[in-house]
Amino acid sequence: MLNADLSNMVKPSLKPLPTELDELFADIRACRICVDHPIRAPLPHAPRPVIRGSATARILIAGQAPGTRVHASGTPFTDPSGDRLRAWMGIDEATFYDESRIAIVPMGFCFPGLDAKGGDLPPRRECVPAWRDAVMASMPEVELVLAVGLYAQQWHLGKRAGAGLTETVADWRSILEATSAPQVLPLPHPSWRNSGWIKRNPWFEDELIPALQGLVADHLRRPD
Ligand code: SF4
Repeated sequence: MLNADLSNMVKPSLKPLPTELDELFADIRACRICVDHPIRAPLPHAPRPVIRGSATARILIAGQAPGTRVHASGTPFTDPSGDRLRAWMGIDEATFYDESRIAIVPMGFCFPGLDAKGGDLPPRRECVPAWRDAVMASMPEVELVLAVGLYAQQWHLGKRAGAGLTETVADWRSILEATSAPQVLPLPHPSWRNSGWIKRNPWFEDELIPALQGLVADHLRRPD
């Protein structure tokens, strides 16, 4: 039977089977909760969830929500805030967007729209209860969470978060010491709107940023 005609046998597919994370991300990218079942006013545009990551990512950036530019590009931090965040972390774009090492998971995956003054609305309230636990469980290798802004700090730190952003970020050393698997480092949003805050709090660039760069370099070079 060694010479049997094998041409009719089903050939194994070379396409890898979708992982749980692939399926979760596909579900998120198809999500319409804020249009079809909103808590209050529906999202004023079609959902475009923006999220990146992998099961091997060691660092997770927990941002706020996409703004208009990111809503258009579909890629997080493709704006001056992203340039500033990459400078804070001491890494280039190629490293920042390497999903095998860095996940980017905002507190609301879709651009929430603008308020009456033209500012970004807060992240949609529907997103965290729908998705966040599952996303965090799908990335078990995350060792460091950069909690960017108050919303991320409140979720990732719970009662450990201070009354406001300044109090929480100023407490970064004891938060790092008190958190593990993953450690959490609170940061302000890198938006130009926070340039005044950065000037008023020089310890941020003098002390926190060097520590951030050391942590990022350490987690990026750590072997599997
Ligand atoms: S913000 Fe979150 S919950 Fe709302 S539509 Fe987008 S992915 Fe779904």
